[in-house]
Amino acid sequence: MAKERLYLFDTTLRDGAQTNGVDFTLADKEAIASMLDDLGIDYVEGGYPGANPTDTEFFAADHKLKTRFTAFGMTRRPGRSASNDPGLVALLEAKADAICFVAKSWDYHVRVALETTEEENIASIRDSVRAAKAKGREVLLDCEHFFDGYKANPKYALACAKAAYDEGARWVVLCDTNGGTLPHEVEKIVGEVVKAIPGDHVAIHAHNDTEQAVANSLAAVRAGARQIQGTLNGLGERCGNANLVSIIPTLKLKPEFADKFDIGVSDAQLKKLAQASRMLDERLNRAPDRHAPYVGDSAFATKAGIHASAIAKEPATYEHVAPETVGNKRKVLVSEQAGRSNVLTELERIGLKVNKDDPRITRLLEVVKEREAIGYAYEAADASFELLARRTLGTVPNYFDVTQFDVNVEQRENAIGQRVTVTMAVVKVKVGNENLISAAEGNGPVNALDLALRKDLGKYQKYIEGLALTDYRVRILNTGTEAVTRVLIESEDEAGERWTTVGVSPNIIDASFQALMDSIVYKLVKSGAPA
Ligand SMILES: [Zn+2]
Repeated sequence: MAKERLYLFDTTLRDGAQTNGVDFTLADKEAIASMLDDLGIDYVEGGYPGANPTDTEFFAADHKLKTRFTAFGMTRRPGRSASNDPGLVALLEAKADAICFVAKSWDYHVRVALETTEEENIASIRDSVRAAKAKGREVLLDCEHFFDGYKANPKYALACAKAAYDEGARWVVLCDTNGGTLPHEVEKIVGEVVKAIPGDHVAIHAHNDTEQAVANSLAAVRAGARQIQGTLNGLGERCGNANLVSIIPTLKLKPEFADKFDIGVSDAQLKKLAQASRMLDERLNRAPDRHAPYVGDSAFATKAGIHASAIAKEPATYEHVAPETVGNKRKVLVSEQAGRSNVLTELERIGLKVNKDDPRITRLLEVVKEREAIGYAYEAADASFELLARRTLGTVPNYFDVTQFDVNVEQRENAIGQRVTVTMAVVKVKVGNENLISAAEGNGPVNALDLALRKDLGKYQKYIEGLALTDYRVRILNTGTEAVTRVLIESEDEAGERWTTVGVSPNIIDASFQALMDSIVYKLVKSGAPA
């Protein structure tokens, strides 16, 4: 049986841009659009030309994308003709393959918000669709508040949708604008709509206010809708939009959908999904959600010993899909509860070959437990664990020694009478027979220390040139006898690889120093720097 085509419509750059604290620049928009294009998304909605300078500029250029680049805007205003509405004219001028009009479909909103008649609202839908079709655009009609409108007045909600379809709109988009509709309601209402409008012209646009946006999207597909709208990482105002990063692998990997439908995302493109999700967080300067389904750092992480041994034997026993299919990795956490099998699995992942009866494994397990008892967290610090394992097995060279460091924080008045805080660090390092000394100013003691430490490592400098710190987290722990500080540092290199290191001490500078040192040494080991 031939599979049916299911279309994906991404609105990260339009609806996702409504997220609190998100403000895309033109460069962000260009990068995200091309990433979505590379993923195989059918439609990329770029924004609202005419509404703000960034979007207007974005739609002034030809982006040469394979996707159907879509502009969003309003239907003509009540009481005006299509050619006499400057907003609509600007929308028709935008360089886009498709236009998505938003229109009211809830009679209550037509009266109260739009202050017009039901008939005039429908006439506005018809005129706008016709004007865009005449310009050669593919047309979508976004029926705002469709589900709430349908519950209040099914006849009118459907009449709005039907007017657009009859006028030649390619898609009628059923929006759960307030996000309060539940999956069984979506399935029932979409089931009614597809009796009047063929399902391959019906789209679902769900918001996540009851955490059902993904479920609602799938329910709509079950009922006959053939386009899903959503955003990367579920970005969107309030609780967000339907998360395409969860929807895509579900459509590709779960037989109920995969056996019935084709989507534009190939298996090879699916492997880029985890990276795409992280790249968006990177752009937004947000920490990725470790627990995000499919793509999160913890999505395929297992802690308990019995699970770890089963996973080592047969991964499918504890995984609903294979992590590689979405570009993620399996992870066995090394923690206080660690059994021998966790450690063995982790050593194998790192690529350290050890006989499983080797007494050094028992020693490593003891060290992990001792150190976790005083505050180290190896399940969060993969690179520090790897170094600890390599050191226990005797394979980490002593690249360099920090013989002394000094950090100075000074608050004073500067030349123009402002109070400033100046931080300076000096580090003395011995590399082979060479004694090096570096100083750096930073915007805090840890930053200054980091800059001084990485300024000159002699012959090793070239290996750490691409190293950058991407996250720094501090926690005060009470271990019983005294309060200690745990520092976790996340680093990244020129190839985009990330790792986390940990340091623990009653002194925050010492804890940070340990984590910084681990990060540098890890990078040297990884780069194969000679001893
Ligand atoms: Zn929306």
